[in-house]
Amino acid sequence: MTADGAPGALLARHRAVLPSWLDLYYERPLELTHGAGRHVWDAEGNRYLDFFGGIVTTMTAHALPEVTDAVTAQAGRILHTSTLYLSRPMVELAERIAALSGIPDARVFFTTSGTEANDTALLLATAYRRSNQVLAMRNSYHGRSFSAVAVTGNTSWSPTGLSPFQTLYVHGGVRGRGPYAGLGDDAYIAACVADLEDVLGQTAGGVAALIAEPVQGVGGFTSPPDGLYAAFREVLDRHGILWISDEVQTGWGRTGDHFWGWQAHAGNGPPDLLTFAKGIGNGMSLGGVVARAEVMDAMSAHSISTFGGSPVTAAAGLANLTYLLDHDLQGNARRVGGLLLERLRAVAAGSDLVREVRGRGLMIGVELVRPGTGEPSAEAASLVVEAARERGLLVGKGGRGGACVRIAPPMTLNVAEAEEGAEALAGALTDARARLPAA
Ligand code: PMP
Repeated sequence: MTADGAPGALLARHRAVLPSWLDLYYERPLELTHGAGRHVWDAEGNRYLDFFGGIVTTMTAHALPEVTDAVTAQAGRILHTSTLYLSRPMVELAERIAALSGIPDARVFFTTSGTEANDTALLLATAYRRSNQVLAMRNSYHGRSFSAVAVTGNTSWSPTGLSPFQTLYVHGGVRGRGPYAGLGDDAYIAACVADLEDVLGQTAGGVAALIAEPVQGVGGFTSPPDGLYAAFREVLDRHGILWISDEVQTGWGRTGDHFWGWQAHAGNGPPDLLTFAKGIGNGMSLGGVVARAEVMDAMSAHSISTFGGSPVTAAAGLANLTYLLDHDLQGNARRVGGLLLERLRAVAAGSDLVREVRGRGLMIGVELVRPGTGEPSAEAASLVVEAARERGLLVGKGGRGGACVRIAPPMTLNVAEAEEGAEALAGALTDARARLPAA
């Protein structure tokens, strides 16, 4: 219960005053009231194991005392947020991220969201290259602003067809379906490189940048074979085209084997620009862009940011980053994520609803189909998500046609919780199957 009555009353008020295009999960939308560790509670007092919050905002753990204390202490000290004055937390966080980024001579600009980070990266790259031609991946998602939607490959996530760019989409982001689906790793990379060359051959030259997520997030946690972007890099370098790696979902060790997603494609060096956001603030609105100084300084006018990297959000970022490095949460993502992937594959083997369980580290996608058809099924995914909630497990949705269940728990997830979540998901698959017509 909330102070104003049942959650249903809050839903009516939400609908009356907020945009109709803001998605709410669940037939009976959830009002979360508090969290601790990997668990959250709703306004009716129900407790859930959170297998999705990790990617959305809570990178490490809900109500992590180290982060909460840092935020409270900083908020009690000074709340002037703009970049007009020196800020110790901002400089310190920028130094640490620049050193971790792998980008030589790196500079960091802080933003308040992933959208704004990508917007800024595109502004920098197009200014540096003096071109508004941009390459992006099919099935990609990069945010909600005018420029971010203009490089978002899946038009069901793009609210407008108007664009500040000439965007050219290339293959490689989603491998499971499409003309190259059946190819082995090397042949797939070769086909995607040929496609990239072909697309570039149709331009008048001077393309500014390629923007890509190393693992597509909203797109359903699909990974290309390792090395794809290294192979792309060789082509891009020949044309002087910049590589922007959107690490909004893949950064900070979540993929387990690597600290950044781009490191699975490191053969030809780091990206020119890297964007981050979501979990780094563990719930505080913190994002940013890292770029080589030469690219970062391509802007011709001086500028400021009122909120980007404020002392409070930077303090949260510093505390969260320290925690995840000190506790080797990347290693935890590799170990517990590996075990979870294995368990979910075993669960899926017994279900005709599941086409594929894929992922790396603590980014796992379960793609659902209409039984007996192999066709992606958003209906099945929705049923599984609802049934999981009934069993006390929160998971996300996404992927092409909305057919993927997405799993991205806080990175402190332990083995017992991974087992508990896998069991709940197995139950949810059975429940969902029973609610669908027989094959
Ligand atoms: N890039 C990627 C890869 C994302 O997944 C998202 C958010 N889903 C964004 C950018 C946009 O981030 P935000 O919602 O913080 O604006």
